[in-house]
Amino acid sequence: MAIIELYHGDITHLEVDAIVNAANASLLGGGGVDGAIHRAAGSELLKECKLLNGCATGEAKITKGYNLPAKYVIHTVGPVWYGGKNREEELLASCYKRSLEVAMTHDVSTIAFPNISTGVYHFPKERAAEIAVHTVKEFTDTHPEIQKVIFALFDRENTDIYSKLVSIDSPDFGS
Ligand code: ADP
Repeated sequence: MAIIELYHGDITHLEVDAIVNAANASLLGGGGVDGAIHRAAGSELLKECKLLNGCATGEAKITKGYNLPAKYVIHTVGPVWYGGKNREEELLASCYKRSLEVAMTHDVSTIAFPNISTGVYHFPKERAAEIAVHTVKEFTDTHPEIQKVIFALFDRENTDIYSKLVSIDSPDFGS
């Protein structure tokens, strides 16, 4: 089972094998965490992204990290929240799962996730956190190659939600 850590701050500062980007389907950059990652990685990242032909919702693609301390960026496209009847929950779970699967193909053992879809895509934060923690835990239980997963928390609400969620689950979150 992986170590689960909560980190409060900018995901672009993390020295891990891979950080996950909450991208849009074009993979050509955007606002929020996507903009921060592209700014910190430098223009070479956009050049590589242009070769990827976009990414479907719930899927993930990997690039190098360029000027980031992280070796790789895994770009995943979260669902826009349309009320919950459009497979949003399943697609969000798929973002976490597919990102971890892609990570495994590049020998990534430490990985950091932002709170996918909870910014401009408006996924309810509490439910998104439950899905994120559950999916990561389920995956790492059966894939010991992933040794550490960090949830990067950037806003107050997500910080409060994850602090409660992870401490409630703490007997299952040891190393
Ligand atoms: P989405 O389009 O998937 O909703 P956003 O980038 O709008 O993506 O927001 C996703 C989450 O990323 C939000 O919780 C936001 O607070 C957070 N966020 C924004 N900038 C950063 C950053 N530099 N590092 C980590 N998280 C960030």
